[in-house]
Amino acid sequence: MAAPKGYKIATLGSHSALQILKGAKDEGFKTIVIATPDRVALYKRFNFIDQILQIPNFADFPKIEKELIRQKAIMIPHGSFVAYLGLDQHRKMKVPYFGNKKVLDWESNRLKQRQWLEKAHVPVPRRFKNASEIDAPVLVKAYGAAGGHGYFFAKNKKEFRQKIKSFKHKNYLIQEYVIGVSAYIHYFYSPLTKKLEILSIDRRYETNVDSLGRIPSHNQRGLGIEPSFVVVGNSPLVLRESLLANAFEMGERTVVASQKLMPGGLWGPFCLEAIITPTQEFFVIELSCRIVAGTNLFIDGSPYSALYYNKDVSTGRRIAMEIKKAINFKKLDKILD
Ligand code: AMP
Ligand code: AMP
Repeated sequence: MAAPKGYKIATLGSHSALQILKGAKDEGFKTIVIATPDRVALYKRFNFIDQILQIPNFADFPKIEKELIRQKAIMIPHGSFVAYLGLDQHRKMKVPYFGNKKVLDWESNRLKQRQWLEKAHVPVPRRFKNASEIDAPVLVKAYGAAGGHGYFFAKNKKEFRQKIKSFKHKNYLIQEYVIGVSAYIHYFYSPLTKKLEILSIDRRYETNVDSLGRIPSHNQRGLGIEPSFVVVGNSPLVLRESLLANAFEMGERTVVASQKLMPGGLWGPFCLEAIITPTQEFFVIELSCRIVAGTNLFIDGSPYSALYYNKDVSTGRRIAMEIKKAINFKKLDKILD
């Protein structure tokens, strides 16, 4: 397929921008990064970035929208869009945007997200509405908390009652703490072919939970260590093959449910963040409706993307492939919002 003329691929300079723009370049697109002054030197290092548009802060994004539209840029959202632009500005973006913005309301509200997953028959951890119901270890999550900040762990009802007294947040969710191994499954759903792919899988590396096992529990006793879940990196993972069928089906059901809940449904990259128990059950703790940072491990492809493509396909490159296909078949309106 010939490289599409005219259109450029753009994103904000952070999170997975390098992967997205490298993938776009590999598919023949011109690329743009929108960067704050502190990041310009970083993005200048890479020759697959054709243009750096500088803005003082990410909040100044609306000021360069006209220029991006003039250049026929297509914006690829990633984890920093909501984190740095906020939900409102993200929603109001006028530059053509890869993905369906209608998913944002469902995704950003923990209860609606849960409703979506339940509709998809994707198992989620039990939720306790009242402290009196607690009969298992729990993780308490403040609404709007992300990246493991604004959480606390309680091993039982008694500990919950004690710890909630000093918890600063008013609105929170009490969720069963699922004991198992985490697997973050990176999917891609194509609205053009109506097919779902698993492109890669990672596990997060979180401090301090992922290091607690290094010190035996009898040595920890008395130290008063509280588990925290602050992400510092990601490592690659392949699933036991017998677990894969379930992983595909959960992804497919998530897409089907989205089509019932919101016009157009979910398309493009998304991630189910799962914990797998000793009985090999998946519990999904979170749904991310865009490219996740764990895909950065797979810039030169993954053991799963290699099953579909005879070239090195990252999630970033897969996005560019979809856009290229849509341009060539005059179906851009199907994949942009
Ligand atoms: P940063 O550009 O590092 O400030 O990250 C932007 C957003 O993406 C923040 O909300 C981070 O919490 C999230 N993020 C960055 N890196 C990762 C990662 N490796 N795994 C999960 N989330 C991440
Ligand atoms: P989140 O912000 O919901 O992605 O959660 C941050 C981290 O907390 C996850 O990556 C997990 O390590 C951990 N976590 C969240 N919910 C649960 C749960 N219900 N059971 C066990 N671990 C969890």
